[in-house]
Amino acid sequence: MAQRDILNQLRGKGVRLTPQRLLILNAVSDGGGHMGVDEVFRRAKESYPYIDIATVYRTLHLFRRMGVVTEVAIGDRLHFEITDPEAPHHHMVCRPCGGAYDLAPDYLDEFRNTLSVEFDFEPDLDNFTVTGVCSNCKKYGADALGA
Ligand SMILES: [Zn+2]
Ligand SMILES: [Zn+2]
Repeated sequence: MAQRDILNQLRGKGVRLTPQRLLILNAVSDGGGHMGVDEVFRRAKESYPYIDIATVYRTLHLFRRMGVVTEVAIGDRLHFEITDPEAPHHHMVCRPCGGAYDLAPDYLDEFRNTLSVEFDFEPDLDNFTVTGVCSNCKKYGADALGA
């Protein structure tokens, strides 16, 4: 989603775009996705040293409620990325290195279909996250080392 569209969406929902909120939004979009709160905080602080982490938390949760950022659980930490309605995706999260990889929704179509046909069950698969070990970590045996 383009920065302009995000701002319009927020304005349309009556969100006041304070300088701090804009800073935090920029920090997430410049980060290129999957950013931890501490990382967003660090980036925002570079432009405005007086910002505090509680504001970063509150603002990220506000943005999430407004649908402009998506929350991804990586281990026990929350990461954030700008929501892209044009390219919704799920996540594969690597346990050893904490890396998050995007997974196109098509991969889950069959799974969704199976649950619906066999169990008459409608799964909530928006923003689905599956954990495991990425190919890099498998190659270097990070999981075996318990890293
Ligand atoms: Zn990994
Ligand atoms: Zn993602």
